[in-house]
Amino acid sequence: MEAAEKLALVIDDEESMRDSCRQVLEKAEWQVITAPDGAAGYRLYRECAPDIVFIDLKMPGLSGMDLLSRIAAEDPSVATIVITGYATVESAVEAMKQGAYDFLPKPFTSAELRVVAWRNLEKRLLFIKNQRLQAEKERMQENFVTLVSHEMRAPLAAVGQYIEVILADLAGPLADKQRQILLQMQHKTEWLMALVKEWLSMSRIQGRIALADSEPFDIEPLVHEAVDLVAPQAREQRVQISVSGSGGPARLEGDREALLHVFLNLVSNAVKYNHHGGEVQVAVETRAEQMVVTIRDNGWGISEEDMPFVFDEFYRAQTERMPKTTGTGLGLSIVKKLVEAHHGRVTVDSALGEGTTFTVYLPLKQPRKVAASEAP
Ligand code: ADP
Repeated sequence: MEAAEKLALVIDDEESMRDSCRQVLEKAEWQVITAPDGAAGYRLYRECAPDIVFIDLKMPGLSGMDLLSRIAAEDPSVATIVITGYATVESAVEAMKQGAYDFLPKPFTSAELRVVAWRNLEKRLLFIKNQRLQAEKERMQENFVTLVSHEMRAPLAAVGQYIEVILADLAGPLADKQRQILLQMQHKTEWLMALVKEWLSMSRIQGRIALADSEPFDIEPLVHEAVDLVAPQAREQRVQISVSGSGGPARLEGDREALLHVFLNLVSNAVKYNHHGGEVQVAVETRAEQMVVTIRDNGWGISEEDMPFVFDEFYRAQTERMPKTTGTGLGLSIVKKLVEAHHGRVTVDSALGEGTTFTVYLPLKQPRKVAASEAP
C-alpha cells in the first residue's frame, strides 16, 4: 500500500526526541514536522493535516491525552501514536480508549519507530478506504430502495384502482367467488402499498438523520401532534387516548420530523393492537438530563417468546387468537433506528392479555457530532 505524500507530525517537549524521530523518519522517506507542546502540535495538525501524529503523553500545557482525544474525535482517520517514557498498561489502555491507534514506549529503536509508522499508515489507509466503501454502500442502498419503491408504487396503485373498478361491478356483474378472490387481491395489494410506503419513509427519514442538524424544540406539542394524527384511527377502534405532560416547556434537541414518526408509530400501534373500549396513556416526563416518554396500552400484549424480536425488521407477533391486522413489521425497527440516531433508547414491557408499555429515553442535548464510524 502506497501513500504518495506521507506526512508525520511529532509532538514532544524534548528537542532531542523530536530531532531523532525526524532523522529516522526522513530517512524512510517521510516528510516530518515537529512541535514542542500540545497547543503548537494541535495548530500544526489543523494546518497541515498529517497522516500520522506521534504524541508524547507527558507535556506541559495541553496534555498528550487531551490532544489525542481531540484529534481522534475530529478525524478518526488520522493515525495517532502515543509515545511515553512512563509506559504502564493503564496508560496504554487509556490512550487506546481515547482513540489512539498505537502505543510506542520509550526508549525505542529506529527500526521500531519505522515499523510503527508504516503499520499505522497502513491502518489509516485501510480506515479511509473502509469509510469510502461504507459511504458508497449506503448511497447504493438508499438509491436502490428509493428506485424500487418508486417503480413499484405507480403500477401497484393502478392494480388497486382496477380491482376497485371491478369490485364496483363497473366491468360487469361479479359472481360471489370472483368477488371473494378480488377482495383477497385487494387486501394483498394494500399490504404491498403499505410496505412500499414504509420503505420510502425509512430511506427518506434515514437520509434526513444523516444530513439534518439538530434543532431544539418542545416535546409536548410534538407528542400531541402524533396523538392528533392517530385520533381518527382511535375513534374508529373506540380507543381512548390521554396525554399527561411534564408541566412546563420541555425542550429537546433533535430531528423533529423523525421523532414525530417515532411517536406516531408507537401511539398508532397502541391503538391498533388494542380492544374496542381500550385505553392508551401517553406520559411525558423530564428525568435528570433526559426526556422520558411512555406509551402504555391495555391491549393484547406481547408474549414472552415474541418480546426479543419485536424490534426486528419484518417481525410480526401475531397468534391465531388475535384479530387479523395488516402491517409490515418494519415500524418498530424504524423507531429503534431513529431513537438510537438521537443517542436514545427504546424499551418494551408487556404481558399477554394485559397490555404493553413502550418507553422512549432521549437525551435533552445531543452530543457533538463526530464521524459515524469509530477509529480502529
Ligand atoms: P407492524 O405494526 O407493521 O406489524 P411493528 O414493527 O410496528 O410492525 O410491530 C411489530 C409487531 O410488534 C407487531 O406486528 C405486533 O405484533 C407487535 N406490537 C407492536 N406494538 C404493539 C403493542 N402496542 N401491543 C401489542 N403488540 C404490539
